[in-house]
Amino acid sequence: MLFDLLERLSSLTRVWYREHPMLTDLQPIQLSALMYLGRCNRYSDTPLAVTEYLGLTKGTVSQSLKALEGKGLLVKQPDDKDKRSVHLKLTQPAQALLNAVIPPDFLVAATHRMGADARVLEDLLLQLLRDVQRGEDVPGFGLCRTCRFHQNVEGRAFCGLTQEPLEQREVELICREHQLPEHA
Ligand code: SF4
Repeated sequence: MLFDLLERLSSLTRVWYREHPMLTDLQPIQLSALMYLGRCNRYSDTPLAVTEYLGLTKGTVSQSLKALEGKGLLVKQPDDKDKRSVHLKLTQPAQALLNAVIPPDFLVAATHRMGADARVLEDLLLQLLRDVQRGEDVPGFGLCRTCRFHQNVEGRAFCGLTQEPLEQREVELICREHQLPEHA
């Protein structure tokens, strides 16, 4: 039953995106890569992280990233410390595109009609996701502010893993190094 519901909602979402007039030029995998890059932090915007997140082969992801680069939707930037590593940065048109299509209108309207129940549902789905991640040992890709390494040092967000300060906006992004606190 739960599976049927999740599958139906995923299917509706896929159809909505496939039929969206602003997205006719993008393959589903290209859109998924853009969506991920629009939500991830600076430790997670590499081709390898996109591959892990989407659960696809390196070759498939690499082709999609090249296509996105060709469309002017992302640029590659060498890492400041490790010149062999690159970061994938969304361009302004890509950001504007994501702002226009996320979240899907039908979902916004439905959650608005549900009122407070929508918040309860969100919490329950988060609980489900955490349980699956814990049980299956899959990569975290969780929200920075819920990570066990997330700290507050002298009033500023700080990553205990990388030992680097975090900007306020970064605590709302997802990270491939994320780990849940033991008690979560
Ligand atoms: S605190 Fe956790 S989620 Fe945030 S940047 Fe560090 S490792 Fe990533």
